[in-house]
Amino acid sequence: MKFKNFPMVPRVIFGRGCFSQLQEILMPRRKNSEAPFIFLVDDVFESNQELISKIPLLFGDKIIFIPTDEEPKTEQVDVLVSKIREYTTQSPSGIVGIGGGTVMDLAKAVAIMLTSNGKAEEYQGWDLVTREAIYHVGIPTISGTGAEVSRTTVLTGPEKKLGINSDFTPFDQVVLDPELTNGVPRDQWFYTGMDCYIHCVESLNGTYLNAFSQSYGEKAEDLCDEVFYNGKLSKEETQDKLMMASWHGGMSIAYSQVGVAHAMSYGLSYLLGTKHGLGNCIVFNHLEEFYPEGVAKFKKMQERHEIELPKGLCANLSEEEFETMINVSMGMDPLWENAVGKNWKDTITRVKLRNLYEKM
Ligand code: NAD
Ligand code: ZN
Repeated sequence: MKFKNFPMVPRVIFGRGCFSQLQEILMPRRKNSEAPFIFLVDDVFESNQELISKIPLLFGDKIIFIPTDEEPKTEQVDVLVSKIREYTTQSPSGIVGIGGGTVMDLAKAVAIMLTSNGKAEEYQGWDLVTREAIYHVGIPTISGTGAEVSRTTVLTGPEKKLGINSDFTPFDQVVLDPELTNGVPRDQWFYTGMDCYIHCVESLNGTYLNAFSQSYGEKAEDLCDEVFYNGKLSKEETQDKLMMASWHGGMSIAYSQVGVAHAMSYGLSYLLGTKHGLGNCIVFNHLEEFYPEGVAKFKKMQERHEIELPKGLCANLSEEEFETMINVSMGMDPLWENAVGKNWKDTITRVKLRNLYEKM
């Protein structure tokens, strides 16, 4: 048996208001006055002067606002990289991503592609990156994906939706300031939060589970219970705990894998552009067969927070479209193997997936 030896985020700061320490965090990382920091910021903050004024701009630093109505694409990474190369003759001092999973994943991918040749799509897969990325910092403004701590950046390319999984992907620094999650819309709070809950359920019920993953997964699940299920917390406690749940959920899947909800939600996302958190919720809602307790609790949480999931997503799809979704989903071998075991192909058939998709 060969064990994975994976890197972790080497520096993390946690605390309400700690975002205002960004200046002192970045200062020692400035190479010189010609090498700027590039801040990729979710465009939801474009008119948020309170946040923007705290970004410690110096010399030729630049803010690039990122629209987040669509999830990151390899082409978008390539465009950002050329834009940054045109902007500065020197390699930047670093890339800082401020936003949710979408912006954090873009920041990781841009940092990698600034030192790697070719196009981002060439690096989708496992351990294809061979050069150190430039210094990159992740600052989540919504909690749940675990992108702040993970070894991947999920991108949709011309041929596939797949992460750049590499030792150079994790952030060099993460800033966890729960106050930044003020203002997250309630539905989105639930969908992205449930991404974390689903990471826990899939990791804890998977065949890849070991004590390392379990220790993080159980902690994350307890925190999700406090936030979404038991619900006696103040707003501040809710924000603090969900931010740490996201972290632990991400750590839990580092050494295991996600499962059925993710494998099927990738199909929805590839074909219909359904966003990650929402897609996972739509799929997970129909997975009693695989995760009976997890799904029962999920339904209660949904009720409690009065969340209505969209229905009929697959009602008018053509044969060909169903085939595409099923192909994408069945292509996620490690996820199915984790969920069902080495012989997953015996029970996970195209007909089975078709029946499940038809319910969504
Ligand atoms: P997101 O980043 O797309 O953000 C969702 C919405 O919330 C956006 O409209 C955004 O503008 C808004 N938002 C974020 N912070 C806000 C704030 N403080 N106030 C108001 N609005 C705010 O959503 P997400 O669920 O965080 O991320 C989904 C992405 O993460 C997907 O692309 C998915 O593939 C990726 N992902 C990556 C990993 C990983 O390990 N790399 C893991 C899971 C998911
Ligand atoms: Zn996820």
